[in-house]
Amino acid sequence: MNLFSQIRSAISSPDKTFIETGAGARITYAGMFARSAQIASVLAGRGVKAGDRVAVQVEKTPENLLLYLAALRAGAVYLPLNTAYTLAELDYFIGDAEPSLIVCDPAKQAGLAEIAARRGVRAVETLDAAGKGSLTDAALNAPQDFSDVARGSGDLAAILYTSGTTGRSKGAMLTHDNLTSNAKTLVDYWRFTGKDVLLHALPVYHTHGLFVASNTVMLSGGSMIFLSKFDADEVMRLLPKATAMMGVPTFYTRLLKHPGLTKAACAHMRLFTSGSAPLLAETHIEFKAKSGHAILERYGMTETNMNTSNPYDGDRIAGTVGFPLPGVELRIADPETGRPLPQGETGGIEVKGPNVFPGYWRMPDKTRAEFRDDGFFITGDVGKIDERGYVHIVGRAKDLIITGGFNVYPKEIESEIDALPGVAESAVIGCPHPDFGEGVTAIIVCKPGVDLSEKAVIGVLEQRLAKFKLPKRVIFMDDLPRNTMGKVQKNVLRDAHAKLYG
Ligand code: AMP
Repeated sequence: MNLFSQIRSAISSPDKTFIETGAGARITYAGMFARSAQIASVLAGRGVKAGDRVAVQVEKTPENLLLYLAALRAGAVYLPLNTAYTLAELDYFIGDAEPSLIVCDPAKQAGLAEIAARRGVRAVETLDAAGKGSLTDAALNAPQDFSDVARGSGDLAAILYTSGTTGRSKGAMLTHDNLTSNAKTLVDYWRFTGKDVLLHALPVYHTHGLFVASNTVMLSGGSMIFLSKFDADEVMRLLPKATAMMGVPTFYTRLLKHPGLTKAACAHMRLFTSGSAPLLAETHIEFKAKSGHAILERYGMTETNMNTSNPYDGDRIAGTVGFPLPGVELRIADPETGRPLPQGETGGIEVKGPNVFPGYWRMPDKTRAEFRDDGFFITGDVGKIDERGYVHIVGRAKDLIITGGFNVYPKEIESEIDALPGVAESAVIGCPHPDFGEGVTAIIVCKPGVDLSEKAVIGVLEQRLAKFKLPKRVIFMDDLPRNTMGKVQKNVLRDAHAKLYG
């Protein structure tokens, strides 16, 4: 199923609002078709052909979403990049993905033009936080019709980079069918219709905001109120106009602190969902008491789209991620052998279905290592299924840190720290944080006679790492705790610093 043709067939009223901004600017579906056609023409004019990657690092605007749709229409593979990535990080992504076009914020244009020239990328266009730039300037004069480039179910629609456990990020390849089938399932499961208005406050370089939120709304012909970022005051102001909101747990902990969160303020809403990180049962219960809504928690990942969801009707149980979605097979398996474990036992979560990606971009060995022979994908999450069939996630196999909904792999940060002069070794852990879920925390052992300061370490890392990956605190120790096998005992460190952030 081609994603854009499915969106096209879902739209029956072209005059309906597609996107509205917080300031009230509005684009109809007719406008969406015309303007995405114009941008698709620009892409084609810059030499973008079927299967070419279009790398995009821009602020969230309606035009950003139009660019995503234009890339689909031009037959390209859309490659969104977190706006926090530094030029050093972008250099790796550009080198790995070999896009034929880069679209970036004007502030990064000079740096990316240098990378583009060195890496053989044909063109760099700009798009700023107001939705203006060389891309939209060129689109103004382009025709409002575009003959969409044919792409089939198995062709790639997007590549999203996940953090790498060994320092190297992996590009998860997603096909048209992966995205379309999952969004259609969510439309049905969460009962989305053309009457819905989704309050969209998630970033659109990540699977949650781009695919779960946007694709689901577009495939139901609904509307979106598009906020450039989450702001509790702005969300509360616009909530009476919306019917649904999708969020990460941090959204809900912040809304709970807002005096405006009442049952009356949420009376028009029919659905709040949460995902990308564990929602504390306490947050679920408090939110229900204040708003009258039981947050519907679901579980997915970049590689698999959405795997499970609490039910729309029926009990939404705090601390669980619900049932496997229709068409998704989920099993709890022995992490070593992949043998399914008896119901109730804890083990590795493995999934199979049309939602699951075909593999990592140009990493056939890594891809093979993460799939079982019978086609199940090894998620790296650890969980169990209870007697009622609800899936529980009990931990993360690889010590992944999730801070404010973003994944941070300790290894990448440790490698940067270990490279600093005077550092003997380091361990990066996530400590419970009231706002971010987990706070990235670095434990450093200095070389003898060296005296480093927390401020100096963070100051250097700021040049190298995206802001969300930066340690919030740096702690110095004489030695790291190790087990008899010589492995650093991160659990001991986590326990010792469990109260670091209050
Ligand atoms: P990402 O690829 O950035 O979407 O991150 C995927 C990872 O986020 C999963 O493998 C899980 O570890 C975690 N995750 C997503 N949703 C949930 C959830 N509802 N509860 C706990 N962890 C989650």
